[in-house]
Amino acid sequence: MRIVLLGAPGSGKGTQSQRLMQQEHIPQISTGDLLRAAVAHGTELGRKAKEAMDGGRLVADELVLGLIRERLAEPDARRGFILDGFPRNLAQAQALDRLLATLRQPLDAVVQLEVDYAELVRRISGRRTCADCGRVFNLFTAPGQLSKNEPCPSSDAPHRLMQRPDDNEATVSERLRVYDEQTRPLIEFYRARGLLRTINAEGEVDEVTRRLEQALHAVARPKAAKTARGATRKPRSPKRAQTRRGAPRRAAKSASGMRRKPATDTSAASKRAPARRAPSGARTGGRRSARRARRQTRNLRGPE
Ligand SMILES: [Zn+2]
Repeated sequence: MRIVLLGAPGSGKGTQSQRLMQQEHIPQISTGDLLRAAVAHGTELGRKAKEAMDGGRLVADELVLGLIRERLAEPDARRGFILDGFPRNLAQAQALDRLLATLRQPLDAVVQLEVDYAELVRRISGRRTCADCGRVFNLFTAPGQLSKNEPCPSSDAPHRLMQRPDDNEATVSERLRVYDEQTRPLIEFYRARGLLRTINAEGEVDEVTRRLEQALHAVARPKAAKTARGATRKPRSPKRAQTRRGAPRRAAKSASGMRRKPATDTSAASKRAPARRAPSGARTGGRRSARRARRQTRNLRGPE
């Protein structure tokens, strides 16, 4: 599953990406991390990025896209990825579109995390980081963590809470303004492509994660039916997206999908399904995706 999370600063993108990464077993690709790593490892793109940053310039989109391209070539990104912090404007979104089309890894969904403006300000201005251990707290949204009085694992004394300079209220409203101006237009961009899902990202973190998963699984099912096996699966089978079974069983299920039998019957049906039926979807799908993966590797190596 290839996903972009869209949301203003403070909408919880980072937290939700982390959780999604664990649940879906796909990497979170943060352009900030990619840049830092490239600079630290002194790769060619990293050296160029460092030049730009040392000169006080923005790192060119091309360069960031180059890093994303390299990252997507790594084996753990075969099953999908979560892009966090990119794209931030229309030009980047269009460039990303072209890159993913070349790689034949188009996005499956873009989820917009919606949080009220006042709540964003409250969340960001409540954020505190321990100067010793780096743990992030929030005075307003998670006061409980602080009242536990756990000592800091780094100093054995209480955590030393600091506010990041760009988290103060004046800077927050400027960051939100930039988001509105630059990033908000992406909502329409992705809506027009049929990729946008919007969730309410206020409330408990767990609850938001649940909504996010729901939004994603709602897209995963009909899409998988069309692209992978061409067809007749029931659009809503709650087990489908959650249980990750082997391909043969899926094929059998899709074969029996039209019968509209209760869920208990499908597993029995899958055992009874004649052997020659199962291969149609599952195996060719497997071969197809293996070919696709090989093509991708070639594409990735070719130009560079
Ligand atoms: Zn600490």
